[in-house]
Amino acid sequence: MTTARLAEQRGWQLYLVGGAVRDLLLAPEDRLLIQDIDLVVDGFHRAADTAAGVELAKDLQRTCLEARLQVHGRFQTAALLWHDDPQLGSLWIDIATARTEFYPYPAANPEVEASSIRQDLYRRDFTVNAMAIRLTAPRSGELLDFFGGLLDLQLRQIRVLHTNSFIEDPTRIFRAVRFAVRLGFQIDPQTEGYIRHAIASGIYQRVQAEVDRTPALQTRLKQELKYILQAPYWKAAIQLLSDLDALQCIYPSLQLGDRWKQLRLADRWLTRFDPAGSLEHWQILLEVLLMALDPADRGKVAENLQLAADSIQRLQQLDQVEAALADLPDCQRPSQVVQRLRQYDWPTLLLVAIASPRSIRKIIWRYRTTWSQVKAPLDGNDLKALGYKPGQQFKEILETLLLATLDGVVGDRDQALAFLAKHFPQ
Ligand code: ATP
Repeated sequence: MTTARLAEQRGWQLYLVGGAVRDLLLAPEDRLLIQDIDLVVDGFHRAADTAAGVELAKDLQRTCLEARLQVHGRFQTAALLWHDDPQLGSLWIDIATARTEFYPYPAANPEVEASSIRQDLYRRDFTVNAMAIRLTAPRSGELLDFFGGLLDLQLRQIRVLHTNSFIEDPTRIFRAVRFAVRLGFQIDPQTEGYIRHAIASGIYQRVQAEVDRTPALQTRLKQELKYILQAPYWKAAIQLLSDLDALQCIYPSLQLGDRWKQLRLADRWLTRFDPAGSLEHWQILLEVLLMALDPADRGKVAENLQLAADSIQRLQQLDQVEAALADLPDCQRPSQVVQRLRQYDWPTLLLVAIASPRSIRKIIWRYRTTWSQVKAPLDGNDLKALGYKPGQQFKEILETLLLATLDGVVGDRDQALAFLAKHFPQ
C-alpha cells in the first residue's frame, strides 16, 4: 500500500499484474503466499515518466532500507528484493512502466489511462496472466480484465491472446504446458491448434536462427525447462510437451520414446542418492533427455541452451566414458571396480548407469552404495604410530590396504596389522 500511496503522490496509476492476480483470484481466501509481485506504473505519457517504474522503486526503497534495489535501465524496470527478511521472508517486487508508445494521445485524455495498461496487458501470454488489479485511487481494488481472463480461470483453461503468439515466442509453448499442468487446467483447443501450427511451421529452425541474434530466447527456454523439470509435476508436463511434439523446440529429432524409463530411473537414483538436492536434479534430468540425441549433437544442443560447463562436458564425453566402462562386468573383484570408477564424478557415473545395460548399472549401484564407502581398518595416523615414515610409500601402503579391505582379504585391525607385517615389513 505504501507503493500505491507513493504512486498517487506523483499522480501515477499503479497496478498489480500477471501471475499474482491470477493466483489471488484462484486462491482460497486466507491461503496465499505470493513471493513474486509484478507491478506496473502508468505514467500518463509525460516524457519524464518513461522511467516511472524505476523512480517508484527508488521511492519505495527509501522507505524500506532493508530491500535491495536492482535497476534494468533498458527495459525501464526495477526490482526490489527482500531475502530472508524476518517479516516478509523472501519477496521480489518488479516495478515496470506501462508501455504506452502505441498510444500517443494527449496526457489528459482519460482513455489513455486505460489504453496504456491495456496495451501492456495485451503483450502478455495468456488471458489468465493478462489481468490487473488497480492499486491506486480512485477505483482501487478494481479488476481490469480486457481479454476474458476471469472466465478462463472459471473454465480452467489456458488461452493465448494472439494467433501468432507461439511463433513470436516459442517459450510460450513451455509456459502453456507449465501453467496447464500446475494449475490443473486444459489448454484451450484453439490455443492447442496454434501450438501445433507453430511447431509444424518449423519452430526449431526459428529458435536456431535466433540463437546468435537473441540468446535471450535460449535463456528463456532453459529457464522454462528448469521450472518444469524442478517442479513436482514434471512428469506430466514432459508427457504433455511430448504429446504436443514440442520437444522439437529443443532439437528436431528429440523424442521422448523410451526415454521415459531412463528419466524415471534417473529420478529414483537422484532421490535415493541425493535427497538433500545438492546436485541440480533438473539439469541431470535434462541431460538424460538430451542423451536421446545423436552423440555428436548433444554437446551443441547443451551449449545452445547455455547449460553449465560441467553439464555440457558430461554430454560431450558420455559416449567415451560409456565405451570405456563397457567391460565393467568383467571385473572379478570390488577393488578393480573401485579403481575403474573412482576417477569419475558422481553425475557422470549416474548418466552412464542410466544409459547402460542392467549388468553395468548394478555394478555402479553397488559401487555407490557399498564399495565407495569402504575404509581400511588403519589410517595414516595408525601407520605413523606404527613407525612408518610419511611419504610415497605411505600412500602405497594405504592404497594396498584399502584394496585388500575391499576384496575381503583384510577384515579388521588385527588382520590389517598382520597384512602390513607380511607385505610391508619395516
Ligand atoms: P509464476 O507464478 O510461475 O511466477 P507468473 O505468471 O508470475 O508465474 P512470470 O514468468 O513471473 O510468470 O511472468 C510474469 C508475467 O509476465 C506473466 O504472468 C505474463 O503476464 C508475463 N510474461 C512472462 N513471460 C511471458 C512471455 N514469454 N510472453 C508474454 N508474456 C509473458
